[in-house]
Amino acid sequence: MTRRRFVINAGILAACGLNLSCMPVNKQKKKLGIALVGLGGYSNGQLGPALQQTTDCYLAGIVTGTPAKEKQWASRYNIPEKNIYNYENFDAIAKNPDIDIVYVVLPVFMHKEFTIRAAQAGKHVICEKPMAMNVRECEEMITACKQADKLLSIGYRLHFEPFNMEMMRLGQQKIFGDIQQIECANGYTWGNNKSSWRLKKDLAGGGGLMDMGIYAIQGARYTTGEEPVFVMAKQETTRPDLFSEVDETIYFELTFPGGAVAKGISSYNMNLNYLKAKAENGWFQLTSAYRYGGMAGETSNGPMNFDPNMNQQAAQMDDFAQCILHKKPTRVPGEMGLLDMKVIEAIYRSIESGKKEKV
Ligand code: NAD
Repeated sequence: MTRRRFVINAGILAACGLNLSCMPVNKQKKKLGIALVGLGGYSNGQLGPALQQTTDCYLAGIVTGTPAKEKQWASRYNIPEKNIYNYENFDAIAKNPDIDIVYVVLPVFMHKEFTIRAAQAGKHVICEKPMAMNVRECEEMITACKQADKLLSIGYRLHFEPFNMEMMRLGQQKIFGDIQQIECANGYTWGNNKSSWRLKKDLAGGGGLMDMGIYAIQGARYTTGEEPVFVMAKQETTRPDLFSEVDETIYFELTFPGGAVAKGISSYNMNLNYLKAKAENGWFQLTSAYRYGGMAGETSNGPMNFDPNMNQQAAQMDDFAQCILHKKPTRVPGEMGLLDMKVIEAIYRSIESGKKEKV
C-alpha cells in the first residue's frame, strides 16, 4: 500500500469512528421486495407511504381483490404488472423472485389463510395484528412457517418506536425498581359505520379488545417483560345496535408473576391512549402511547426526549428485512402474537364466567 493510499484509508476509518459498515463496498446492497396483501386503510395510509422511506426493503408487489386498485397502485408506486396478484392467483407468487416478503393486511379471518399460503409459496411473512381469530389459528400459522423454514413476524410497529422502547427499557431493567402498577388503555369512539367487518364476529374474531385493547395488553407485557398469570374482566355496551356481535368496551386487570397489576381498558366508545407504570422508586408514562406519531412521555425524573414522529412502519419493515438478510430472529415473532391471543382468550373467558381466569 502506498503511503498516500494508507493515509486515505486511515482517514476513512477515523471518519467512520472505526465503524467498518461505512467502508465502501463493491456489491450493491440488496433491498428485499415486499408484497402487500389487502389494500385497505392501513396499506393505503401507512404501509404504502412507509415503503417509500425504507432502506432495506421496497414495495415490489400487491395482492388485491379490487381490480380498480391494481391500476391506482401500479401507477402511484410504479409496480410492474407481473408483480400484481389477486386472491385467486396469489399462489403463483412462489415463482416470482422479486417478492421476498408477503405482508398480510387483511381482515382478521383471512390472516391465517394468507400467512400459510405465503409461507408455502416460499415467502417470509409479516402478518398484521391481531395475529388471528384465536390461539389455535396462531399455532397453525407458526407451525406452517416453521415447516416452510420462513420467518413470521407480527406488525407490532411500537417495538421500533423510541418512546415505547424506553418504556421497555425502564420497566424491564427495573430502572425505577420493581413495577407495582400499570395503567394502560387504548380506544376511540366508533362513528356510525354499521357495515364494517370489524363489527362482525366471524370476520374480526372480537371487537375493541382484539383491535385496540391488544396494544394495551402489549404495553403491559413489554413494560413488565413478564407474562400475566391471571386476568379478570368485565364488559360494557352502550350501543347494542352496533355492538351486538363484538365487544365495545372491556375493563380488564392482569396479574403478573412479579407482583405488578395492570388495569386496562379497550374501547370503541372512548378516546383513550396511555401506558403508565408506577414502580418502587418513581414512575414513567406515555400519555400518547400507541399512535402513528405525536408520541409523548415523561418519567418522575423529567420528560422523555425522542423523535415523536419517526416512521414506525418503515423502521419495523426495515428491521424485518435485516433479520432475513442477516438470518436473525425478529423481535416481534408469531410467538408474540400467540401470547397476546392467549391473554385475549382469557379475558373473554373471564367475561363469560365472571371470575378470575388463568391465562
Ligand atoms: P380495511 O377495512 O381498511 O381494509 C381491509 C382490506 O381487506 C380492504 O382492502 C378490503 O377490500 C380487503 N378485504 C378482502 N376481503 C374482505 C372481506 N371479506 N371483508 C372486508 N374486507 C375485505 O382494514 P385495515 O384498517 O386496513 O386493517 C387491516 C388489518 O390491518 C387488520 O388486521 C388491522 O387490525 C390491521 N391494522 C393494523 C394497524 C397497525 O397500526 N398495526 C392499523 C390499522 C389496521
